[in-house]
Amino acid sequence: MKTRHVEIGRYAALVALALAPICFLPAAAQTPQGDPKDTEQWEPVPPIVTPGAHPDAPPSDAIVLFDGRNLDQWVNTKDHAPAGWKLGHGVMTVDKSVGNIETKQLFKNYQLHLEWLVPKGITGEGQLRGNSGVFLASTAAGDGGYEVQILDSWKNKTYVNGQAASIYKQSPPLVNAMRPPGEWQTYDIVWTAPVFASDGTVKTPAYVTVFHNGVLVQNHYQLTGETRYIGQPSYRPYDRAPIKLQAHGDPSAPISFRNIWVRELN
Ligand code: MG
Repeated sequence: MKTRHVEIGRYAALVALALAPICFLPAAAQTPQGDPKDTEQWEPVPPIVTPGAHPDAPPSDAIVLFDGRNLDQWVNTKDHAPAGWKLGHGVMTVDKSVGNIETKQLFKNYQLHLEWLVPKGITGEGQLRGNSGVFLASTAAGDGGYEVQILDSWKNKTYVNGQAASIYKQSPPLVNAMRPPGEWQTYDIVWTAPVFASDGTVKTPAYVTVFHNGVLVQNHYQLTGETRYIGQPSYRPYDRAPIKLQAHGDPSAPISFRNIWVRELN
């Protein structure tokens, strides 16, 4: 009897195995209904953009904000006088006595590329070592707006929501993709500006995606307001705003910049 039960069991298992593919076959072989053309989109045709010669070079539809030759696209944030940072060897360097500079042009949503350098042999610790920043929308003079931190975060401990590639005091970077001092760093940033209702309330918040040296460090992060040194972030209404670079007052050697371009997204 025992042997017979085993045999029946074995037989049932074989039948189940044999039938399994047949059971699934009809679903897998089912032909989709309808016309494939129903789901094709033909208009509008995306405009043609010629990419740069290499990934860091401006594509054909970019606005070049700094190509190493002059500071014509930039003004002093305080009084809109000429930018006045140091220019040489295709590079601009922060002049801390001059203060922050910002673009003459105002922007809303965009893709931004910029390159920055912590000088070799920099000294100082924490926030006092190569501090600068790029404000994605300068809504007020001084440090008003939304700052992606620039700092020497190569073996330099500080609060993580204040290290390089953080959204200052809101969002630490996903990873630390810092290169050592003396090597150029890249930021590639996608900025979705906040939208405000006519009464000044937030219709949609700001979002930011950041790549540091090609590595994703902020992934469509939703901001809770402007970045602040002291106190909680909050929004203040604006429509279009300049992009601002920070002349931080720390005593360490100044940060340099090169190859800055932006593509407006509408
Ligand atoms: Mg800063």
